[in-house]
Amino acid sequence: MNTEDYVKNATRTESRDFDKIAERISEKGNIRLLHGAIGLATEAGEFLDALKKHVYYGKELDRVNLSEELGDLFWYCAIIADELNVPFAKIMDTNIEKLRARYGEKFSEEKADKRNLDVEREILER
Ligand SMILES: [Mg+2]
Repeated sequence: MNTEDYVKNATRTESRDFDKIAERISEKGNIRLLHGAIGLATEAGEFLDALKKHVYYGKELDRVNLSEELGDLFWYCAIIADELNVPFAKIMDTNIEKLRARYGEKFSEEKADKRNLDVEREILER
């Protein structure tokens, strides 16, 4: 396949109802969620970059910078949690409860492969 064919075939499956997309993007809640999601991705990239510089380029591991980026990630998490109207404490509690349902007290690859998504969803919806 040449590049032009690839682009032609790839763009056939692109969502192109730009009026409806623009309408959804203009909703305040979606603006905040998108801001949070973009921020999580970019801050995760900054965290990875700091780790990459240590692991692959032999720079000293800058734990202060890693902690800074973790704080930046929390900042975006706070925006998302606020928009979802879910307290951080509930998110943390629910996450641990879901993981307990999945693994019991200890991780195993077998349990990771045999997740009960119905049970996990029920926990997440409480
Ligand atoms: Mg940062």
